[in-house]
Amino acid sequence: MSESQNAAINPFETALKQLDEAAKLINLDKGLHEVLAHPKRVLTVSLPVKMDNGEIKVFTGYRSQHNDARGPYKGGIRYHPQVTIDEVKALSMWMTWKCAIADIPYGGGKGGIICNPKEMSVGELERLTRRYAYAIADIIGPRTDIPAPDVYTGGREMAWIMDTYSALKGNYVQPEIITGKPLAVGGSLGRNEATGRGLSFTVREAAKKLKVNMKNTTVAVQGFGNAGQFASQLVEELGATVIAASDSQGGVYNKNGINVASLRKHKEKTRAVGGFSGTKSITNEELLELDCTILIPAALENQITAKNAGNIKAKIVAEAANGPTTPEADDVLYKNKILVIPDVLANGGGVTVSYFEWLQNLRRDYWTEDEVNQRLDKNVTKAFLDVYETHEKYGVNMRKASTVLAVNRVVEAIKIRGLWP
Ligand code: GLU
Repeated sequence: MSESQNAAINPFETALKQLDEAAKLINLDKGLHEVLAHPKRVLTVSLPVKMDNGEIKVFTGYRSQHNDARGPYKGGIRYHPQVTIDEVKALSMWMTWKCAIADIPYGGGKGGIICNPKEMSVGELERLTRRYAYAIADIIGPRTDIPAPDVYTGGREMAWIMDTYSALKGNYVQPEIITGKPLAVGGSLGRNEATGRGLSFTVREAAKKLKVNMKNTTVAVQGFGNAGQFASQLVEELGATVIAASDSQGGVYNKNGINVASLRKHKEKTRAVGGFSGTKSITNEELLELDCTILIPAALENQITAKNAGNIKAKIVAEAANGPTTPEADDVLYKNKILVIPDVLANGGGVTVSYFEWLQNLRRDYWTEDEVNQRLDKNVTKAFLDVYETHEKYGVNMRKASTVLAVNRVVEAIKIRGLWP
């Protein structure tokens, strides 16, 4: 996804810039600003893994714990060759804001391992995952830091981590150590779809505000992984027509519409969206600039930059990915009257259902899918309206409004708790 081209943009600098802008707007105390600018703890681990060919390879992993004023650190674990310590730190700060905006009792954390899971066997991935779980076991916990899936990790990895952690810490099953698990080991109904479903609720609310009828909307989705696929399917259910989708190898386009269920089947079979019948191939860059109503970046960071922001034609940008838009691009989009539903709001459905999963685990009492989805709708809609109100009150874009709302909530908790020792 144009990774090398934009690798020079440091996500932690982006996150700090966003924090600076929010701090200015609310006249944040300098000391508290400083507290929020630094993760509370960042752990780097070296992970020796026996590869299938008998050699030992050492991988590097991280866990960044940004802030826990409102509750335990919470956030996913990413497997990607381009993971950096600064990316993980940025993502952990965004998790703090995301949980505060969703108003769930968590702080923010994030983990990552520098690796290419596409080039590893299942056995190698299991050994790497268990080694990582072992290496971070002393700083995570059901009441302290609860990991989850992120880019290129899923239920399978979560189950290995739960198993390793449970074996290490008392040798009894502790499903509440991690979320995004398969149903058989304490996962929640609706968790798989949650990021996409939450995003579709924010798009529905944004369309209401802009007085756009969902039935007249067209959608382009950059990234067809878990979030991108469910987001496409669920906006389609709201009446929208998906006209383009892409993955790391490129995209497909049909101005009359693409059936999302069929495209998902094609992707499952061939592992790529490319070559889907009745479509024209386009690049990821072209997809972003398509004439459409709703653009969903669902891949990686730094996709909408100062270079291409002026060419974006969508009315609504709903960020399924974390950090897809740079601060410079944000200003251009705002000037061009494009409503950006920022990552920390648009993709907050994932961590919200993670919270529901954790509640179910703690009580060993499980909910129906309807109950999960209804509570998700209520929660995401409230978050959207809270951010929208802040956006109108301060006359700033939705990202600044999100950060202001989040920082205010986190700072209130820090102040009430006080500093000790
Ligand atoms: N990795 C997801 C995110 O960025 C989910 C985090 C979670 O469920 O804790 O929001």
